[in-house]
Amino acid sequence: FGDRAGRVRDISIERSVIGTRFSVLMGLVGALGTALVYWIGGYLVLKDVFTIGTIVAFNAYLVQLYNSIQSLSNTPVSFATSLVSFERVFEVLDLPLEIQEKSNAVELANVRGAVTFEHVTFWYSGETLLSEVKRRGQADGAALSGAVNEAGSNGKTSQARELALEDVSFQINAGELAALVGPSGAGKTTITYLIPRLYDPGEGRILIDGIDLRDVRLESLAAQIGMVTQETHLFHDTIRMNLMYPQREMDQAEIEAACKAANIHQFIMELPDGYDTVVGERGFRLSGGEKQRIAIARVILKNPRILVLDEATSHLDSQSEALIQDALKTVMAGRTSLVIAHRLSTILAADQILVVDRGQIVERGKHAELLAQGGLYTKLYLTQFKESESS
Ligand code: ATP
Repeated sequence: FGDRAGRVRDISIERSVIGTRFSVLMGLVGALGTALVYWIGGYLVLKDVFTIGTIVAFNAYLVQLYNSIQSLSNTPVSFATSLVSFERVFEVLDLPLEIQEKSNAVELANVRGAVTFEHVTFWYSGETLLSEVKRRGQADGAALSGAVNEAGSNGKTSQARELALEDVSFQINAGELAALVGPSGAGKTTITYLIPRLYDPGEGRILIDGIDLRDVRLESLAAQIGMVTQETHLFHDTIRMNLMYPQREMDQAEIEAACKAANIHQFIMELPDGYDTVVGERGFRLSGGEKQRIAIARVILKNPRILVLDEATSHLDSQSEALIQDALKTVMAGRTSLVIAHRLSTILAADQILVVDRGQIVERGKHAELLAQGGLYTKLYLTQFKESESS
């Protein structure tokens, strides 16, 4: 990297030196040209060949010509740099589509929202997975590893595995709330990625209202699912545009009602330009909690039947967290929700808790039943959830 960075630096310096020499040369030619025009022109005016106006006009045109030549001289450099960007753009455009829609795919309409996983087995492309597992294995040594190793399924050791999910089956009835819990790297996020079909399972089926996801039109599937992750992406645009993305025009009253339900309206009104404040990478910086509440408002506006949520973890302050919890309660009402749960209150409210470990569902049931079993859930409860409730 050092070598290459050095080469880039040397090329940039060389380019600047050549560029500067060239513009000095062009400036000199321009100045000499002007002097020459007035010298010879002046002589010809004295000889009554031209009028003085002709000479002045001639010189003005000449200056325009110099400017154009100078811009033209920069073109090869801009062209060469753009070619590199073109290559990158085409690299992305040429990537094969992993998720293909069938030609006879059906529209997913009038969805009730029952979600079923039938013997789902899934793996990410081999090499990346193994290196990620190893990396995580080294990085996540701390708090949870004790609980995981002791209570790990069937007493397996914590070596890298190839399957991210293995024979996962569960059913969430329409309108129910299911909580996913489990140690880090267990496969909770992977389960949530399969529902909007970001990936297809290697084996098994995922169904919404009894229809296999591989048989439905992708756009109609996306319209039924709302996702709130911990990493909300906001575009470099106004809050209003971010809220409306990717849908139709909405009126202000509709937007405000959603933001009030998401506990973010008050905050937006205090910003310099209210709903027209530009946010995102180069705009106004929002905190993680504020971004998440905007994502919740976006989901309320989208009004999907199925919700996939990744609850906030401890990096939020308690006030922000309370606002989010409150907003989530509003948004979950009456929808099928699958939540990666970090809060005891969510887990207690869940119709079923799915305990994930090493890509498998190792325990399932309600809080009291699971606690009575004294397995992985009990360990997680003692190390994570109990603590999170008292903090
Ligand atoms: P956490 O609570 O830490 O977010 P998680 O339970 O959500 O963990 P997942 O993110 O679903 O776990 O990861 C499950 C397994 O799949 C892990 O072993 C992880 O290393 C692996 N994995 C996740 N994403 C990828 C990916 N894009 N490519 C390869 N492997 C991945």
